[in-house]
Amino acid sequence: MAGLTLKRISKSFQSLKVLDDISLEIGDGELLVLLGPSGCGKSTLLRLVAGLEALDAGEIFLGDRRIDHLEPKKRQVAMVFQNYALYPHMSVEKNLAFPLKVAGTGKEETSKSVTQVAELLGLLDKLKDKPGQLSGGQRQRVALGRAIVRKPALFLLDEPLSNLDADLRTRMRQEIVKLQKELGITTIHVTHDQAEALTMADRIALLHDGRLVQTGSPEELYNNPNSVFVARFIGSPGINIVPSRVNDGLLLPFGLPVTDFYLESEQAVLLVGLRPEAIEIAPGGDYSAIVQSCEYLGEQYVVKLLFGETELVASGSKQPYAPEQTVSFSFESKALLFFNYESGIRIG
Ligand code: ADP
Ligand code: MG
Repeated sequence: MAGLTLKRISKSFQSLKVLDDISLEIGDGELLVLLGPSGCGKSTLLRLVAGLEALDAGEIFLGDRRIDHLEPKKRQVAMVFQNYALYPHMSVEKNLAFPLKVAGTGKEETSKSVTQVAELLGLLDKLKDKPGQLSGGQRQRVALGRAIVRKPALFLLDEPLSNLDADLRTRMRQEIVKLQKELGITTIHVTHDQAEALTMADRIALLHDGRLVQTGSPEELYNNPNSVFVARFIGSPGINIVPSRVNDGLLLPFGLPVTDFYLESEQAVLLVGLRPEAIEIAPGGDYSAIVQSCEYLGEQYVVKLLFGETELVASGSKQPYAPEQTVSFSFESKALLFFNYESGIRIG
């Protein structure tokens, strides 16, 4: 077992810089979720670690061992792709045994490893079945099993849940986390789905345009985003970002006294972030707004408000509100996050 260290890695395809000076340490046994929008370089990063692409610059270490010059099969790295391809004409048993066969493993050891993995994944009674006879979740488990059967030191999962329906996807998140903890294998799990990242990760690394913009626990990224991009990317419904200005010592449009040194010294215009759940609609609140729409989500209502000229989304309401209704709302001023208007970088 070993942790993974990426040191200043970069990669371009022709003139397109896909990964720009990425440094990242993943602890031994840690589950790191690499999160980011489509096209930001997530798959490229995994492919570099697996050895399917060559680095332009930088170094990759697995434990103390430098691996970026090794051929893929010498790296002790296993990868599961979004479009995991099982061999349709082979039984589950043969599919699981295939990587061992390729590696020249003996019959007895192969049989032992396959049984172990099948037991771990609840596939013992499916060993004789063909992939076509399995459910989507079982097929996904076979794909995971095929990756772990060679006991890799590092596990790379490239959006392995994207092709599953919503219900199965939610269950498989927990299964992967459980499996990863049981095996204790250092893992990078790639997704573009922030909810998946929040629920699965020990730590999240958020990638944007080939750069790592923030790395931290799910709670850190949610509560302490270092930029508007991070604040917007994490959380659903999304954070309210309100263009604001400081005038006569008051933060507008909220009319709050500015006491923060950083804000006083900042330029007059800034962006203010406010999570929808921090806004409480209740009688006697500090502000008044007009309801624009109200969406029922089962356990709560999400209410769109018009506060002066500012649109705000409030979540967590236990009751519905009618459009055009005037309501009052409040929030704690410590819930506000401040960002530079131009750069989007967090202030303070
Ligand atoms: P993600 O997995 O985050 O969606 P990718 O790593 O697949 O992103 O791709 C990042 C960028 O690199 C995209 O613009 C993609 O088109 C480009 N790209 C990926 N692989 C290649 C390649 N082999 N040749 C040229 N461009 C590529
Ligand atoms: Mg990808």
